[in-house]
Amino acid sequence: MIRFFSIILFLLPALMQAQYGENISLKWNIEGQAVISSEIHFVPQQHNPFINLQIRVDYDQNIPIQIYFQDTEGKLFSITKDIHMPEPGKWFGWVDLPNKDLNGKMIIFFSDDVSRIPPIYTRIFYPFSTDYLQKNSDVENRSNKTFSRSTESCNCPYPSVVTRDQWCPNNQCPPNSNPVYTNVKFLIVHHTATPNNESDWAARVRQIWDYHVNTRGWADIGYNYLIDQNGLMYVGRGEDVKGAHFSGHNSETCGVAYLGTFSSFDPPQVMHDKMTEYAAFKCCEKNLDPLGTAYHASSGLTLHTISGHRDGGNTTCPGDRLYADLPQIRTSTDNEMTQCSNQSIDEQDLAEMIKVYPNPASTYIIIEVKDAIPIEEIFLTDLSGRLISRMETGNSYLDVSALETGMYLLKISVANHQWVKKILIRR
Ligand SMILES: [Zn+2]
Repeated sequence: MIRFFSIILFLLPALMQAQYGENISLKWNIEGQAVISSEIHFVPQQHNPFINLQIRVDYDQNIPIQIYFQDTEGKLFSITKDIHMPEPGKWFGWVDLPNKDLNGKMIIFFSDDVSRIPPIYTRIFYPFSTDYLQKNSDVENRSNKTFSRSTESCNCPYPSVVTRDQWCPNNQCPPNSNPVYTNVKFLIVHHTATPNNESDWAARVRQIWDYHVNTRGWADIGYNYLIDQNGLMYVGRGEDVKGAHFSGHNSETCGVAYLGTFSSFDPPQVMHDKMTEYAAFKCCEKNLDPLGTAYHASSGLTLHTISGHRDGGNTTCPGDRLYADLPQIRTSTDNEMTQCSNQSIDEQDLAEMIKVYPNPASTYIIIEVKDAIPIEEIFLTDLSGRLISRMETGNSYLDVSALETGMYLLKISVANHQWVKKILIRR
């Protein structure tokens, strides 16, 4: 009995803390032009890629302030101001700290002497690793939602997505319980202004959720979708829910955020591929012209169907490099729509029932087949038809780590049909 209890006590704190951020109350003292906090002690957590420290200062945003966390060895961690969606009279920001034993203080430098300490809210968030959370999840991952198409002439499917249950197990990042819906006419492309070298992309999505909800005070993560640099798309607010992303003019928009910072870094092509796949579905469903423009009543601006955040707000989002790619995304969405309109329904249905990812791939491919599809055989061949691999079941994991860079064909035989998908292997 004692042994049983000690195990529970050992496990509980780990699980209870998993995902949970907490507001921290600090004492602040004025020292000249700076305001300095009492000591903070961060305890490292197992299975945790980084510690996220968030802050909100109720202070005139036009007067420059600089905020740091300084550890006891004097190392400064600069807290980046969130210039993405400013709010009058409020300064928001966060910084990632290494997941280790850290002692230190927060320092806020004001541009002139401080007469009184403004209200300051600080929060700490442990994202934990996604693998760890999924292993400790008490909920089976639900299958991807499918959406019915409203236009019969267009067959562009809803893309495969990472559901909220998958990126945040155990319902620790709940959606808005009272969502407001909007009739989407514009897709707004963002970047998240977060690192490009993440070890765990879903952990970043959880961090953004926590920051948007608990520090910014929104009802849910601001974006409808987020795309990581492997081309996976995470469901944020999801289909037709009004978001919080377009500088206060969110009606009729759907916000899709590329995870990363694209001011001087080119988004990987797989991100555009995913964006294109989703944009083709949405433009198809809502009968929108991906190459067109229209009047957006909420902002009073004429916008491209696929626009960047900066087109409607005083921000550099989605970064110069991603913004420069928007014409290419519009064109490839248009091409994708032409292609999927030409597909027969049979092929289209198969494409919805069989998911193959990641594509491009480097080490493995997952072939996911929905229940009750009578798969006869799956072949992988090169472009000349030379057989590389053969399987006899669906739901397969295919090791491709030995293959050279190039295009391959995955051929899936299903009751009188052969469905062929091009697979790009990249080394
Ligand atoms: Zn943005």
